[in-house]
Amino acid sequence: MTYQNYSLAQLREADAAHHLHPFTDHKDLRAAGSRIITRADGPFIYDTEGNEILDGMAGLWCVNVGYGRDELADAAYTQMKELPYYNSFFRCSTPTPVLLARKLAEIAPSGLSQVFYGSSGSEANDTAVRLVRHYWALEGKPEKNHIISRNWAYHGSTIAGTSLGGMAAMHGQLHGAVPNITHVMPPYAYELAEDGESDEAFGLRAARAVEEAILEAGPENVAAFIGEPVMGAGGVKIPPASYWPEVQRICRKHDVLLMLDEVITGYGRTGEWFAAQSMGIEPDTITTAKALTSGYQPLSALLVGDRIAGTLVEKGGEFFHGYTYSGHPVACAVALKNLEIIEREGLIERVRSETGPYLGKALKERLGDHDLVGEVRSFGLLAAIEIVKDKAAKKRFDPVGRAASCVRDHAIATGVMMRAVNDTMILSPPLIWTKATIDMACERIARALDLARTELR
Ligand code: PLP
Repeated sequence: MTYQNYSLAQLREADAAHHLHPFTDHKDLRAAGSRIITRADGPFIYDTEGNEILDGMAGLWCVNVGYGRDELADAAYTQMKELPYYNSFFRCSTPTPVLLARKLAEIAPSGLSQVFYGSSGSEANDTAVRLVRHYWALEGKPEKNHIISRNWAYHGSTIAGTSLGGMAAMHGQLHGAVPNITHVMPPYAYELAEDGESDEAFGLRAARAVEEAILEAGPENVAAFIGEPVMGAGGVKIPPASYWPEVQRICRKHDVLLMLDEVITGYGRTGEWFAAQSMGIEPDTITTAKALTSGYQPLSALLVGDRIAGTLVEKGGEFFHGYTYSGHPVACAVALKNLEIIEREGLIERVRSETGPYLGKALKERLGDHDLVGEVRSFGLLAAIEIVKDKAAKKRFDPVGRAASCVRDHAIATGVMMRAVNDTMILSPPLIWTKATIDMACERIARALDLARTELR
């Protein structure tokens, strides 16, 4: 590899001189320098200093089959030699996106049998918004174009993705959001449930906020509601069981389409192919990306339900939308092999019956009593740890974010990569984690919490 001809100092210098990173304070980055990851294998990543770090984030919620999969490299190599690229515009197609679409129709919740490809989750959500609005226009209701979303939602970083998302800091830099998108409260019981309010009652109250927004805009103006089944980047906010059935009932009642963003939850993370199946949700669209290729290639797939697709086909007329890399043959070849690995190794079943329940239990037993831990929650292989100054009062350290960043830095130093969102620590490991890997992660996180306590108190 060419980078081996460069010292760590040279790589860091070039990084600071030329590379603008996503979601980064560049002044900070230049002062502190970057951590350069050079290789990875199975559940571990390695940096230039030779540190072996357990990757508790599966890259960025995506490397579900773990690192070092020769089969995925071979699939890309073979496809690149045979046909590295051809487009799917102008009534052309290539074999791998066709076969992948057929496979996705097989594993998707019933009624979602059509696929529109992009390269990223953000692009797929842009497609979803355009498609849903196009659908209502074809139905003769172009005014039905409002979309309801939630505070703390993350739906990507393009202008439409940021507008759909409910991240205040991102909106602050948007300078003009896509119009007709409204945000309501998220189903985040830890901070938003009232004293004595049951989980069930809180879930119904959060769902009612969706209905209130629909009524305020007027149901005749509302195209769709969009939500992540479990909010990921907003802090692994897991809704009470009462939430989604009620949201679905409300959407049906007002003839509002239901769009799920499964960019994080798709492809096994919750113990089914899709969280829609884990939670019994019947959406009209599902946005997917990330683990579709386990991050080995950039690829997204918007799964489209029969209602929308039926109108698209029946009414006809060109849908003026698409990307150069829609249905990229190499990315689709890698996705096909990745789904084959997930199936062959029984990774989804393992999450459902073994590692998912074990992760929740191990985190609670090993870390739940720590005095910095306000709450531990998990769903499949998604988990969150709330960091607090005062457990009983749910009081945070000041300023917000300092404590979790401190825990995260110690976690990386003790050998487990985690993410901090405000004062919530997050885990989203590869599906290849075993009970032993979970035990190792818990040990390391416990040590990081002890070190952080010494620093914070
Ligand atoms: N939707 C969700 C739920 C996500 O978590 C993300 C990325 O983290 C996106 C959309 C955007 O995906 P991408 O970064 O591939 O554009």
